Amino acid sequence: MNDIVSNIKNIRNRIASACERAGRDVDSVNLLLATKTVSPDRIRIAIEAGETLLGENRMQEFAVKNPELSDLKYERHFIGHLQINKVKDVVKYGIDCVQSLDSIELMHRLDRRFQTEGRSLNVMVQVNTSFETSKFGLNPDEVFTFLKELKNCDTLKLKGFMTIGLFDSDTEAVRLSYIRLRELKDRAIAEGIISSESSELSMGMSADLETAIEEGATIVRVGSAIFGTRS
Ligand SMILES: *Cc1c(COP(=O)(O)O)cnc(C)c1O
Repeated sequence: MNDIVSNIKNIRNRIASACERAGRDVDSVNLLLATKTVSPDRIRIAIEAGETLLGENRMQEFAVKNPELSDLKYERHFIGHLQINKVKDVVKYGIDCVQSLDSIELMHRLDRRFQTEGRSLNVMVQVNTSFETSKFGLNPDEVFTFLKELKNCDTLKLKGFMTIGLFDSDTEAVRLSYIRLRELKDRAIAEGIISSESSELSMGMSADLETAIEEGATIVRVGSAIFGTRS
């Protein structure tokens, strides 16, 4: 119980120290709770402690948890691989942002669905910055073409970019992933392909959020350091 609240404090302190070291405003970094496999009663403790941004990897978890947390106000992000046949669930479960936009087909399916709904959806483009074949996300050299296509999708509002960095104990190797994402974003803005409003960078997890903040993260996604190791 109490562990969750003190873990959050701990993470908030880590974020604040990293911001200070990097000369950044602490308010420029948002904490997203990665709640995969975490039960609704434990998520509730975090929300009641003041957290407002949650991310799930699977639609099935929103299906189960949404009803149990319906009295609370929080923002729902989808951070896992989104299958085409689950696009309708983005509407059904009230998802505020899909961080894991990673294919042209998904882009068009989402756009068509939200046209039907008559509203818009926040999205982030997921980039595979570590080149590991096990990971989803666009190759960095596909991103600009993708962004040009995204401009044709009126309902999709690009907020920025997301990556799952290299999983490695070598901080400097991990850092290269985060530098890659930031440079892509900067270049896309400099070349006028996207507006400066699409500049969020969702990167960094329990083990490496400091490195991500040093390289410009505006959203860090933290799971195990708050809720404990997943079984
Ligand atoms: C699980 C997960 C996280 C959080 O990872 P931790 O190491 O538990 O902090 C962040 N992003 C994504 C996409 C995840 O699936």
